[in-house]
Amino acid sequence: MCPSVFRCVRCDHRVFPARFLCPQCHGDGFEAEDCPSGVVTELTRSVVAGSEAGMYMLATVLSDAGPVLIARVLDEAVQRGDTVALVLRDGGIYADPVHE
Ligand SMILES: [Zn+2]
Repeated sequence: MCPSVFRCVRCDHRVFPARFLCPQCHGDGFEAEDCPSGVVTELTRSVVAGSEAGMYMLATVLSDAGPVLIARVLDEAVQRGDTVALVLRDGGIYADPVHE
């Protein structure tokens, strides 16, 4: 399963996360649209404290649908500029490497 972006039914502008009004035309009608892939523009290392202490990577992903999404990265081999598959897992968005 992949995350969804939201397409304005009036002007086709796509937003993520969902908004009440389209920033472009102020319309309030949106349709969810699959967002299966994108390109990594930035990688950030995050440290988690607490019971699940550890380190993970966050990717800023420019989705093929248009909006920018933040996704967790489990594979250390993912680099800036890579195309990744966007997957919904455990209530979060993950960026998985695409092997060609
Ligand atoms: Zn619009």
